[in-house]
This record gives sequence, structure tokens and C-alpha cells, in this order.
Amino acid sequence: MTNDDNDARAMTRDLTIATLRAEPGTKTSGSVTADLGTLTTDVPLTLINGAHPGPRLVITGGMHGGEFTGVDAAARLAAALEPGEVHGQIVICPVANPPAAYGGRLGVSPVDGVNINRVFPGDPDGGPTERLAAWLFATLLDGADAYADLHAGAIDLTLDDFVGYRLTGDAALDAQAEAMARSVGYRDVIVGLTADGGNSHAAAARQGIAAILIETGTAGDRTPATVRRLLDGLYRLLRHIGCLDPAGPYGDDEPSGPAPAPRPVRDWVWVGLAASEATGLWYPEAATGDEVTEGQVIGRIIDPAGGPEHKVTATATGRIFYGMNGFTVAPGAELAAIAAPHD
Ligand SMILES: [Zn+2]
Repeated sequence: MTNDDNDARAMTRDLTIATLRAEPGTKTSGSVTADLGTLTTDVPLTLINGAHPGPRLVITGGMHGGEFTGVDAAARLAAALEPGEVHGQIVICPVANPPAAYGGRLGVSPVDGVNINRVFPGDPDGGPTERLAAWLFATLLDGADAYADLHAGAIDLTLDDFVGYRLTGDAALDAQAEAMARSVGYRDVIVGLTADGGNSHAAAARQGIAAILIETGTAGDRTPATVRRLLDGLYRLLRHIGCLDPAGPYGDDEPSGPAPAPRPVRDWVWVGLAASEATGLWYPEAATGDEVTEGQVIGRIIDPAGGPEHKVTATATGRIFYGMNGFTVAPGAELAAIAAPHD
């Protein structure tokens, strides 16, 4: 026995989340019930309690309906990881918002019309989605060192892969989040200049947790190649934060195959969001990935009843990272999100 073994034993500890428990060196899966006031929902979880000491990482997918890559990658990762090889504790929740994910209502929950990723850290006395956000925050994120929330271009959204993180003003925490974001290996990293708002990763960052958002795949894509891209990124992240040994056994045995080297990163910052001002049919004239100039017409909304046509213009100069793939839009629908290079 070496001193390292002694240290490891001293530092590993039981992992308990709601009604699930995993001793060091074991893995447990099941569902736990969240009380949302007027209803309950069963949230699937896998706890991987590593045999070796290390950080606690939380991964969530399925915050929104119609976003499939994160759900699939999280479920595959939960099945593949062996606790004997894991350093620290990994909590994986593939479907964090079951009412929205199974109800197929895209950004908002069919229960109350609320977008959960606008109301974190939630409200335990609020409506059902606010209560679910509060439950997820208290149950999963309390005690976490690092957090990755997996999103995608939903069925109604075109999207270019990117990783996002927020600046909190805590230099050490911000550096940790930036390094995590870069470790995923996607070409584009978008930095949010504040940690304001109700996004899960922003609320987690405000709590002192190194948190990132990973967006993968376009328009409801769930093909194996797209899910593999995300899994490769997750394995790179796990190695970066120390949950997996860089020279560990997952190389050729990873369900996604050996993770390729990360690509050079380009840094971006959000500069504009064009939203619909009318109800009608959306005919885009610029695609996700296009560079656009402020004021440029990027599409039209046509009234099938013969009313006036609405031109939609770019609200800033930059590149479209996600856009509306849906055809029938209502006021407030997000049509194009634009980011510009960040120095
Ligand atoms: Zn989403």
C-alpha cells in the first residue's frame, strides 16, 4: 500500500442525491421524484462515485424539449463510465426537465409555458417549472465543483456548435470556467460578460461553481455522428477537470472512439438577438453560420391573411450562431442570435 492509496481512501466519500446513494467505487441509477406543487415528476439520475478522490461534476441534459444530443450523450456517458476509473464524483441527469422533454414543447414546458432556462435558480414556492429549477439547483448542484449543461438546436432551431460560459468577476472561477469551455474542443466559445439571468450555468456560476453550456447539433439532429461529437467533447472535459486520468483506459474503448485533439478556439461575445414582431410565416434570407451586417434584411414574416409583410433585420454585425427553423412564428420568437469576435 502506498501513501497515495491511504490518501485516496481518506478522501473518497459516499455520494447521496435525494433518495439515491453510491458508495465510493460504485455506480447507481434510478429516478427520484420532484414535487412541483400541482404535480410530481420523476427525474432520471446516474451517480458515479469514483474509486479515487477528485472533483464533483454535474452534467444535465434535456432542460428543453426537442433538444436530443445532450440527452443521448448524457445517457451514453452514464452507461459507459466505470467508477473504478473515475476520480471524484459524477452526477448525470440526462432528462432534467421531464415535462418539457417528454411533452415535446421545445423551449417551454407544457405544464405552465415557462422556459426553465430563464428561471434558475428557481423558486421553491413558485409555479411548477420554477419549483423544478429550484429542486434541480438544490438537489444536484449543491456541493458541485463543476457543471456542464447540455443543449442543442431543438427541432425548431438551427444552430452551430458552441460552448458558453459567464464572467462572474471572480478571476479564479472565471479562469476555471474558461479553461473548461476550451477543453471541450469545439471551435467556437462564447463568453457572457455577466453572470446575470436565469440560465442554469449562469446561476451556478453565481454560486461559485465552474459552469459551462455546451450546444451541439442543429434542428433536432440526433444522428450518431453528432452525438459522438458531444461525447468526444465530454471525454475531453472529464480529462481536463481530472475526473478521468489523461492516460486512462477510455481511449480506444470510449463509445465514441478516441477523442480527437481539440480544435483552436475562436472567442465570441453575444451582440444581438432579432425577435419576431409579428405573427406569421418566417422566410429567412440568412442562414446560421452567415456573417451579417447590422440593418441587413435577414428574412421576412408573411401574413397568410394578406396583411403587411414584416422585414426582419440584423440587430448587430456578426455571425448568426442560432436561428429559427420553425415556420410559424409569433411575437417574441427568437429568429437569429448574433455574436461578434471577442478580444
Ligand atoms: Zn436548450
